[in-house]
Amino acid sequence: MLTIRNLSQTYPNGVQALKSVTLDIEPGMFGLLGPNGAGKSTLMRTLATLQEPTHGQILFDNKDILQNPNVLRQCLGYLPQEFGVYPKISAYNLLDHLAVLKGVLHKKERKEQVEALLQQTNLYQVRNKSVNTFSGGMRQRFGIAQALLGNPQLIIVDEPTAGLDPEERNRFHNLLSEIGENIVVILSTHIVEDVRQLCSKMAILIAGEIKLYGSPNKLVEAL
Ligand code: ADP
Ligand code: ADP
Repeated sequence: MLTIRNLSQTYPNGVQALKSVTLDIEPGMFGLLGPNGAGKSTLMRTLATLQEPTHGQILFDNKDILQNPNVLRQCLGYLPQEFGVYPKISAYNLLDHLAVLKGVLHKKERKEQVEALLQQTNLYQVRNKSVNTFSGGMRQRFGIAQALLGNPQLIIVDEPTAGLDPEERNRFHNLLSEIGENIVVILSTHIVEDVRQLCSKMAILIAGEIKLYGSPNKLVEAL
């Protein structure tokens, strides 16, 4: 269970990207909906402990994760909005290295986990190719495999379906739904339909403030 209290972010240039955001997020898929510039990425990066907020508190299972970022980092998977350049090594080897960084040290356990994730994300066939050669959809699925390493309890997914064709989007949605059955998944997006299809709870962020919170079916009607 994730609790966000009075979270604010003011950037050095004076932009107030988050204004006292308070949210409770329970297991299942949670949708954070908002237009470009609303502050979604800022909130996702802050939850992923990649940047510090100006004010506020984040609790995960009642532990303060801003005071103890390692508590969350150990059980967090983060799928960022943009992907960088990947090393030239194979997708398999890259996942294997990342698993070591996640603390999956046992070679046999790692092999099992990496192979299972490649199967689950439908990338087993291309495991010996570099991620640089992958299409957008394949990269997104690789991002999910990466985020799932080390059996996280919380997955943060930032604007995932930008640039995907309908078939890839479907595939990606099914994968997310599967994952969301067991753990907290936060999906940040500006696409109303994605949230309606996938999420059991949602919030709408506009200009750094939470405007609505509840179940997608009710809220989407109100939009
Ligand atoms: P969203 O993900 O909803 O598009 P962002 O969190 O990226 O929103 O941005 C919210 C606001 O904060 C925007 O006005 C954006 O320009 C600004 N912003 C984001 N990151 C920074 C930064 N590192 N420094 C200054 N302003 C930023
Ligand atoms: P989004 O697509 O989520 O709105 P942006 O395009 O606003 O993201 O931001 C992309 C990157 O640029 C982010 O790392 C963000 O922190 C940074 N950024 C955004 N706006 C500003 C800004 N006004 N000043 C400095 N960095 C910014």
